[in-house]
Amino acid sequence: MKLHEYQGKEVLRQYGVNVQDGKVATTPEEVQAIYKEYGQPVVVKAQVHVGGRGKAGGVKFSSSEEKAVENAKNILGMDIKGLTVNKVLVTKAVDIDAGTEYYVGMIVDRNVQSYTLMASAEGGMEIEEVAAATPEKIIKHRVDPVTGLRPYEAREVAIKAGFKGNLNKIADMMVKMSKAAFERDAVLVEINPLFVDADGTPLALDTKFEIDDNAMYRHKDVAHYRELAAEHPLEIEASEYGFAYVKLDDGNVGVLGNGAGIVMTSLDVVNRAGAKPANFLDIGGGAKADVVYNAVKLVSKDPDVKSIFINIFGGITRADEVAKGVIKALEDGILTKPVRMRIAGTAEDEAKALLNEKNSDLIKMYPTMFEAAEEAAKDANAAGGK
Ligand code: GDP
Ligand code: MN
Repeated sequence: MKLHEYQGKEVLRQYGVNVQDGKVATTPEEVQAIYKEYGQPVVVKAQVHVGGRGKAGGVKFSSSEEKAVENAKNILGMDIKGLTVNKVLVTKAVDIDAGTEYYVGMIVDRNVQSYTLMASAEGGMEIEEVAAATPEKIIKHRVDPVTGLRPYEAREVAIKAGFKGNLNKIADMMVKMSKAAFERDAVLVEINPLFVDADGTPLALDTKFEIDDNAMYRHKDVAHYRELAAEHPLEIEASEYGFAYVKLDDGNVGVLGNGAGIVMTSLDVVNRAGAKPANFLDIGGGAKADVVYNAVKLVSKDPDVKSIFINIFGGITRADEVAKGVIKALEDGILTKPVRMRIAGTAEDEAKALLNEKNSDLIKMYPTMFEAAEEAAKDANAAGGK
């Protein structure tokens, strides 16, 4: 479960992390009242579950009351990567000098079978670019799951990362962050930017905090943080159908298959074919035509999707049921994007016969998943998908 910035900050505060002051608002009037109370410049920040809010225009420095209200009006109701902003966090702005935005994070790392602590003196909005172009500027350290992060290790990492300021205080913040990660079963905790003031004291300006869904039963006290309204509408619909569905950023090919493994492979072959998957959708085993129909309906609703790649290996799932579901979606006018399918196995010939009879350019079957994925990629890229 992803927490909003303000929720993640609440958790970090419980662990003693020095967090920038801020209050949540849902209307420009509330933002105005908070500005009056603080009586100093503020930052108005969209509370949505996406990264890169700043780059998308969802984080605005507001030097006056009028600016704060204007920014609130613009940000509230704004669409960021398909999510509507219903809440903003209004923070007491600090003066950031160039080069004083640090990054620290804890991530569950399969390769080391524990958490990896990461730190970089080049934090801020470009951290992904830093990771891609100059990975040596990100210091990584495996945290022992038995002892947790010890202060001397945190100090060592802070020194290696080139942090300036009160290193004891900065290391202490890292230790507290890592304690929060362990105790809250986080899959990811980041503080970015971590700001260091003129006295050398660190302050958390932003956080990403994600708790392992499988551990939520141990964290009932934060279960109320989950807001259906803040989740992707398609993910909510998918959970109603009982599908395992994940919306992926910047994709153009809708992907569905029967089983987690085959869907993972399908994402890979779409990438290999030169397009990008827009979602993961597992319809499960033994799906009948109505389930396939709902899956196609769901994926078609995504405006990012320009073509659909269906990859089914028929065992208990019958290929003809899959074909029937897709054909019905076409007949009902739900299907407006090309569907490229590989359906092999049980009742494959029956499926072929049904599709031949329908004879529509929108639905085509291919002998291998590579060919189907390539056609889907061509269609999506030709349609001007991202
Ligand atoms: P993100 O883009 O979703 O990671 O949102 P952040 O909360 O990290 O804010 C984006 C950027 O806004 C930061 O990297 C800072 O450069 C800037 N920012 C955030 N808070 C403040 C603040 O209090 N003062 C100043 N000067 N800049 C801020
Ligand atoms: Mn940030």
